[in-house]
Amino acid sequence: MLQKAIETKSRNCVVDITPQILSAINEMAIENGALMVYVPHTTSAVMVNEGADPDVVTDVLNKLEQLVPYRGNYRHIEGNSDAHIKSAIIGESVLLPVSRGSLKLGTWQKVFFCEFDGPRSRKFYIIPISPQ
Ligand code: ZN
Repeated sequence: MLQKAIETKSRNCVVDITPQILSAINEMAIENGALMVYVPHTTSAVMVNEGADPDVVTDVLNKLEQLVPYRGNYRHIEGNSDAHIKSAIIGESVLLPVSRGSLKLGTWQKVFFCEFDGPRSRKFYIIPISPQ
């Protein structure tokens, strides 16, 4: 398992972490199988989605903000309930196929770290899952 660090730049943003995952595949010498990317935070998430047109992830963030506004009728005293809810919607992990030493993503797919309570120093884990 590898741990990677990331610095997010704003309260709500996404960061393309595909290059870090590709270098982790090299580092761990994974040829075939799968790997899990896991985010050990309660106000961020990870998703696979379109990376060709940056408007797509902007639309995702905008729609999440519309569904779960920053200020609302929340009970959590910390004041970041929207971030916890967005994290719950998107999810804390993705499972990715690896073939011939590379990610087997679709043509337009990228892997995005999703920040909902930044800017912060964050981390994520890359956990290899090998076929037997
Ligand atoms: Zn909180």
